[in-house]
Amino acid sequence: MSCIFCRIAAGEIPSKLVYQDDQVVAFPDIHPAAPVHILVVPRKHVQSVAHLADGDGELAGRLLLAARTVAEQAGVAQSGYRVIINIGDEGGQTVPHLHLHVIGGKQLTGHGTA
Ligand code: 5GP
Ligand code: ZN
Repeated sequence: MSCIFCRIAAGEIPSKLVYQDDQVVAFPDIHPAAPVHILVVPRKHVQSVAHLADGDGELAGRLLLAARTVAEQAGVAQSGYRVIINIGDEGGQTVPHLHLHVIGGKQLTGHGTA
């Protein structure tokens, strides 16, 4: 298995999992862009949002709910935070395994379009 996030989800690469359930894991981003920067990923390999199947609706919802839980645990639920999903080359996606960035702990501005 060569996919880095599949390997983290499978426990092949030791990582501090801040959240895990039967379908989803979350761990800190290796290059945090803010005091809170956590990646939420499906255990199942899905390359991106563009590769979600019609039958992945529950998984998609579970990812969003996990992002909410992660934000609560990190203490940013009240102050506010951002959930970002990059998709494909022009979307800025560098790891080809679907992931949600949960970013917070500082004032964020704009829409991340720069
Ligand atoms: P993307 O640009 O694909 O939306 O985000 C990929 C993110 O994964 C980047 O923020 C990058 O810092 C993070 N990342 C890449 N490789 C690793 C890794 O091996 N471990 C962790 N924890 N984060 C990684
Ligand atoms: Zn993968």
